[in-house]
Amino acid sequence: MKHISLYIHIPFCVRKCAYCDFTSFPGITDRIPLYLPQLEREMTDACARFGPLALDTVFIGGGTPSLLTGDQMRELMGTVRRHFTLCEGAEITAEANPGTIDACKLADFREAGINRLSIGVQSFDDSLLLTLGRIHTASEAENAVLAAAEAGFSNLSVDLMYALPGQSASQWKHSIQTALNLPLQHISCYSLIVEDGTPMKAFVQANPALMLDEETVVCMQHDAARLMAEHGFQRYEISNYALPGFESRHNMVYWRRGDYLGVGCAAHSLMNGVRFANTTSLKDYLAGKRCEASECLTERDVYEETVMLGLRTREGVEASLLPSARLQALIDGGFMRLEGSRARITQAGSDVLNAVILELL
Ligand code: SF4
Repeated sequence: MKHISLYIHIPFCVRKCAYCDFTSFPGITDRIPLYLPQLEREMTDACARFGPLALDTVFIGGGTPSLLTGDQMRELMGTVRRHFTLCEGAEITAEANPGTIDACKLADFREAGINRLSIGVQSFDDSLLLTLGRIHTASEAENAVLAAAEAGFSNLSVDLMYALPGQSASQWKHSIQTALNLPLQHISCYSLIVEDGTPMKAFVQANPALMLDEETVVCMQHDAARLMAEHGFQRYEISNYALPGFESRHNMVYWRRGDYLGVGCAAHSLMNGVRFANTTSLKDYLAGKRCEASECLTERDVYEETVMLGLRTREGVEASLLPSARLQALIDGGFMRLEGSRARITQAGSDVLNAVILELL
């Protein structure tokens, strides 16, 4: 039986965060009972198309999957089990927003089979949470992590953001330090990307002096790497740190270009060398429309993806795949190093990752 990973998109949120350009719809959780049967239909169609599939990992992302009630999560996981073979020890992650979980829901999610929680904290600073338009406070975020641990989750992750408008180095270090004092096994650190059309874009245009310069942002990355290392968290991908053995198995499938099936509005898939994406219109999705775009990858596409994704990770890329003269120049410059047959990015290389990637493509 073919082994893959499954991504399930839950595109509902309490309200839209100021920086968000994900496919997520605020204030319409009453559509969830209409949405879950469509996910089931899509899984049925996928099984008919691809044959029997075994799942090594499942990732329920969003949006805000923790808006599902305990019963809805049980229903969703029941649907997954009916359509696929869940492998022994499968990693089953749900994303959670601290403003939407309590002890009872956490216990229900555990019972439904969720064994990893990825909590969107973003910052442990209330003023920055306000700037981001998050629905929770810093102490609610801390309590959410503690409640999840109390509920028995022993594989817990939080997302943190840096390069926020007006964020000081000490605010950033405080967020990391607070996370490191919590019972977490995994921490993701993402730089804010100001997307066109978001309220955040208008905010920074009105307050350009609050934007951080490149040097400050690189210092924040260094602070994160240092503090994480001091606490035993290893940087296994450019934005992700984990205690040994707690790397996100699901995300590693993306970075290794393994096969994954995405179901739900706006979900993306890579199956048998073809990338395809579902409609981003919730109305169309609920009406039964699915794939909106698909792309059969060329050899060049595969090479570029392999380099771009591989260099983000600690695993790196097979050196024999890379142009040898350019690789040697990057090694001489201290941006890459060789370990056995693999070419890996150094700390200096990770500061200028995009330029290194461009050099090798
Ligand atoms: S909770 Fe996540 S998906 Fe929802 S609006 Fe905020 S950033 Fe976007």
